[in-house]
Amino acid sequence: MRRTCHAHVIAALLGCTALAPATPAQAHPSPDRAAHHSPARAALPAGDGWASSGAGTTGGQAADAAHTFTVSTREQLAAALNGGDATPKIIQVKGTIDGNTDAAGAPLSCADYATDGYALDAYLAAYDPVTWGTATVPSGPQEDARAASAARQAARVQLLVGSNTTIVGVGKQAKLLALDLQVKNADNVIVRNLTFEDAFDCFPQWDPTDGATGNWNSEYDNLVVYGATHVWIDHNTFTDGRRPDAAQPFYFGRIYQQHDGELDIVKGADLVTASWNAFTDHDKTLLFGNSDGAGATDTGKLRVTLHHNLFRNITERAPRVRFGQVDAYNNHYVVSAGQEYVYSLGVGFKSQLVAEANAFTLPKTVGADRVIAYWKGTAMTEEHNVVNGKETDLLGAFNAAHPATVIAGDAGWTPALRTRVDRPTAVPRIVDCGAGAGRL
Ligand code: CA
Ligand code: CA
Repeated sequence: MRRTCHAHVIAALLGCTALAPATPAQAHPSPDRAAHHSPARAALPAGDGWASSGAGTTGGQAADAAHTFTVSTREQLAAALNGGDATPKIIQVKGTIDGNTDAAGAPLSCADYATDGYALDAYLAAYDPVTWGTATVPSGPQEDARAASAARQAARVQLLVGSNTTIVGVGKQAKLLALDLQVKNADNVIVRNLTFEDAFDCFPQWDPTDGATGNWNSEYDNLVVYGATHVWIDHNTFTDGRRPDAAQPFYFGRIYQQHDGELDIVKGADLVTASWNAFTDHDKTLLFGNSDGAGATDTGKLRVTLHHNLFRNITERAPRVRFGQVDAYNNHYVVSAGQEYVYSLGVGFKSQLVAEANAFTLPKTVGADRVIAYWKGTAMTEEHNVVNGKETDLLGAFNAAHPATVIAGDAGWTPALRTRVDRPTAVPRIVDCGAGAGRL
């Protein structure tokens, strides 16, 4: 105990720099030290989460000189990605790349994408529940125009990432602004050291049948893993950034939500490790499996490891899990006083979530019973998690608060692919000092 306090005091006195290097010790050091220490050619260490299983994850490590790029515009990035082809490639991002730019690099506004007479005020007039009702989803000229306008934005902001690719930020300032990177039906991809900010939809769709009061829904996850395997997502920062939900207007009594997920893993995706990322300032953050009806593609898939990630000012889904064996350990969850908070760990249909040795920093207004949410999952493993420095039985707190909805205490599997497990009480300091972009 004395040593713990001593180390903590030293860290507090010296700050995060005293902890460098922040990356985890390697269980199986690469014999090629030079390659190992170059972020652009680094591979996922052996045994580091689900993405290390089988052949592991090397990304674009085998890229030749002709497929090693440095990009700083949306056109250069799209050209390097080459439609998501499988040629081994390394793409180094320098500076900020804005997805909403034309082929010459000039900015594109929402008005530039709008077509066929779409206008928000006309859309609102057409689908006002007072006249349109709440029983059916919008259809007709304004909805058609909205969809046509959205397709024009999608053509700029959605970019496919193919197999055998590494995308890595250069230095501390590399940012993908308003882009939706899609690792789709690919294998062996690494994404590191990037800030993903404000993937926003110019054309949210009103759905009066979503929930009790309807919702505005948007496309464009910052990063989506769709039917892909062996993906390592490491040391990135995700944020709503310049477009916080708190500044959004309300229409029809609901927030005009222009964001989708920060990192969604869906449609039979499998074998993903997300480590040392900072997921910040967002509502629906990590969705693993997007339908209870997806058993045909998702059963036995959606295996994801989440470790040493920071979740700060997140409203919900950190993650929300369906089907998959998900190992969440050593993550730091920070809920701020006054923020909107629904839950952190969503126990969804057929999910097998293991949550161990995580740290939760909660304000007085948020009880431990609110960390877990029931979404038709029947069991999870929850052990050695701490709330404000004290080991806390989160599942027991949930079950006590929801006697009609008991979640059993064994997910039915034991994670083996872990290279390093820290004491949960040390997690806030270690993760806050090590997670996010700009720290490789
Ligand atoms: Ca999504
Ligand atoms: Ca427990």
